[in-house]
Amino acid sequence: MPEGDTLHRAANALQPLVGQQIHAISIHPRAQATRVAETVDGHTLESVTAFGKNLILRFSGSITVRSHLRMSGSWRLRRRTDEITGRPWLVLRASEWEGVLNGGPVLELHTRALARLGPDILATPPDIDKMLTRLRAADQTRTLGETLQDQELVAGIGNMWMAETLWHTQTSPWRRLRDIDEATRRLVLQAAADRMRAAVDSGREPQKQAHARAGRPCTRCGTPIRSWGQGDANRIAYWCPTCQPGPEPSVPAHAG
Ligand SMILES: [Zn+2]
Repeated sequence: MPEGDTLHRAANALQPLVGQQIHAISIHPRAQATRVAETVDGHTLESVTAFGKNLILRFSGSITVRSHLRMSGSWRLRRRTDEITGRPWLVLRASEWEGVLNGGPVLELHTRALARLGPDILATPPDIDKMLTRLRAADQTRTLGETLQDQELVAGIGNMWMAETLWHTQTSPWRRLRDIDEATRRLVLQAAADRMRAAVDSGREPQKQAHARAGRPCTRCGTPIRSWGQGDANRIAYWCPTCQPGPEPSVPAHAG
């Protein structure tokens, strides 16, 4: 799943299109149905920024477009080709370059969904105080692992960065929010921000220590890494039960 750092890399890659008048094309029928291409066609792209897991494209005429990549989407920049291959969701064609969105799957003109997002973990600098305020107002019985992936509390952290951050800070994803003091919350959020920012700036994915390593030895203590579905979305948490002590996993409420 693309996380905030993937979106920031995409935003960086698309910068050569900023300031250019855009010819926009959609081929995929689901993308055509959004009317994004016909709305932005002929307008100047004013900015491309990542916010959480969203790519926000602002055009002249006060038009804002949101692209969310979910599991399948990708943005790339290439030299203008004047050819269309496959069924791209959106091609943003400028004089020299073009940006191509393949695999969607979320493309829309600005909606209120953006207004509900929590502070972006990849903002420079990230507003950790505001994130802590949102955490204090959240349901304190939820697990830390779930909480960190709630985009309305903190925008940009997904499954992989949750697992990696908690491994590095030696905090269990199964601890309840009510059992985690303010200093630890701050430490975890700052660690996530620092590691994700480093991944954006270097353009490299991190060496994974916990994520998708179930059954393999922890590189710090040798205990096998565990995995278990977590929360209403049943996303898989990965953790070292020795380095990250905490309560036993609970079965998601709706699971059979
Ligand atoms: Zn360990």
